Amino acid sequence: MSEKFDVIVVGAGPAGTSCAYTCAKNGLKVLQIERGEYPGSKNVMGGVLYRKQMEEIIPEFWKEAPLERPVIEQRFWMMDKESSVSFGYKGLEWGKEPYNNFTVLRAPFDQWFAKKGVEQGVLLINETVVLECLTENGKVVGVRTDRPGGDVYADVVVLADGVNSLLAKQLGYHKEFRPDEVALTVMEVINLSKDKINDRFNLEDNQGCTIEIFGDSTKGNLGTAFIYTNKESVNIGVGTTLSSMIKAKLKPYDLLDYLKTHPMVRPLIEGGESAEYLAHLIPEGGYHSVPKVAGDGVLLVGDAAQLVNAIHREGSNMAMASGKMAAETIIEANKRDDFSEASLNQYREKLYQSFIIKDLEKYKDAAHTFEHYPQYFKEYVPMMNRAASKFFTVDGTPKRDKQKEIMKSITSERGTIRVLQDMYRAWKAVK
Ligand code: FAD
Repeated sequence: MSEKFDVIVVGAGPAGTSCAYTCAKNGLKVLQIERGEYPGSKNVMGGVLYRKQMEEIIPEFWKEAPLERPVIEQRFWMMDKESSVSFGYKGLEWGKEPYNNFTVLRAPFDQWFAKKGVEQGVLLINETVVLECLTENGKVVGVRTDRPGGDVYADVVVLADGVNSLLAKQLGYHKEFRPDEVALTVMEVINLSKDKINDRFNLEDNQGCTIEIFGDSTKGNLGTAFIYTNKESVNIGVGTTLSSMIKAKLKPYDLLDYLKTHPMVRPLIEGGESAEYLAHLIPEGGYHSVPKVAGDGVLLVGDAAQLVNAIHREGSNMAMASGKMAAETIIEANKRDDFSEASLNQYREKLYQSFIIKDLEKYKDAAHTFEHYPQYFKEYVPMMNRAASKFFTVDGTPKRDKQKEIMKSITSERGTIRVLQDMYRAWKAVK
């Protein structure tokens, strides 16, 4: 492997493949290297894929991509031990073209997407680990792989190697994670018949539903659980920041068992057969954790650049959009024959002008606020449940008296000033 390429892309997740596909479609010579046996074999995702960013790469992809169900309903549960306050949105328009988002299983989806890149001319090599970036006078000029004689050269190397990018760390772009910058999530794929899924989640064929669960799903710690419907399986998972896990001495697998046997959750998955068990990190440091994304001969995309909006569980779309922006930058740099940091910094500008950094900036203080002030998940979720129970119990008490009782119990538990402070702080964190 001593050939020189225009671009080497490390990783065949959504970020890497979006970049490789777009570069190859525009006539560049692209090598994509994936350590897994095939794209998707090592990848984990709750499973919501967003239509908009994927369609900007492959229009009307839903006509041929291996998707599970179009999501027509998003539910949110504020869950206590034996109750849940819920809200959400169900829209039948999301079940029709052009759709909003889809549930997917990553192994078939990533393989299909990478194959589309290969059809554009990408040379994809699986079962190959990139060990390090090769540099000359501080400029990245290629990569060293674990294959014999496996040094390969390119004008630009794109690091799409995921959350724990060892290559970005070697280059000094990434620091070691702080435990509050990363969440550990465990999930299980549970096989369940199509009819059971439709009955239990109130769906018809080719309609999907997502449930995000806060509160008791993480035993009151900062984090969420999720249940997503596939065609004939459901994905169920739970995650918290590593710092929460350490502080509360939580074991991720215990947390998943707790969730699966929770009385609000158990009936949805009862009788299902476990098909897969997976664990993965999610970069949740947000705006403050985004590293340097462009250097001489190198760009960072997707999770490797920490581009995840944890509040809206958007990661795959940011991966795809950033991969495409990196490709567009490389195409322009190729025309100028200039792969310096100054030239590749166009990518940074695109990123900072896009929804990606704007959204990360909007929530830049959210994770810190909710981690630092545990009352939001620990105290307010149970309080909301008690208030709802009281309000909806018909016991002959006039409604106005009930409202007064509820307000009194909330303010006496936390104190009026503290409640007002909490509300203002939460509003500031997400405004
Ligand atoms: P990845 O998908 O991690 O791909 C990186 C690739 O690089 C892998 O294929 C890996 O094998 C390869 N690789 C790594 N190192 C090397 C190396 N040295 N040499 C060669 N190859 C290498 N996002 C959503 O949009 N919706 C969701 O519902 C959602 N749910 C999630 C649930 C969980 C449990 C998790 C963990 C994440 C979830 N995300 C979700 C986030 C989303 O999965 C990621 O943001 C997205 O996968 C990032 O894509 P990527 O291409 O940057 O990285």
